[in-house]
Amino acid sequence: MEAKQEVKRYKCKYCGEEFDKPVRLAQHIRVKHKRAKKREKEKIKRETASERINRVIEAVGILKGLQVSPNLSEGEKKILDDVLKRFEDFIASMQK
Ligand SMILES: [Zn+2]
Repeated sequence: MEAKQEVKRYKCKYCGEEFDKPVRLAQHIRVKHKRAKKREKEKIKRETASERINRVIEAVGILKGLQVSPNLSEGEKKILDDVLKRFEDFIASMQK
């Protein structure tokens, strides 16, 4: 006896319409929700940019921790200063 196969449905997240194949769903989204999908993509891009800023801010925090380390020579401190300044300029330009 054959086990009853559960039919998997692929539900459109934009309008709730259901499809039996992911290809059909993708096709439907492409045709019916082109703009919604584009908007979503742009939203993701924005989030990625702010995530990137957060990572840079984190790196700056680590570098600032290093800067006060007593083991650094004057030359190394100077390099760290330059790097930090560059990071801070970058953050400032991203947050404009
Ligand atoms: Zn839909």
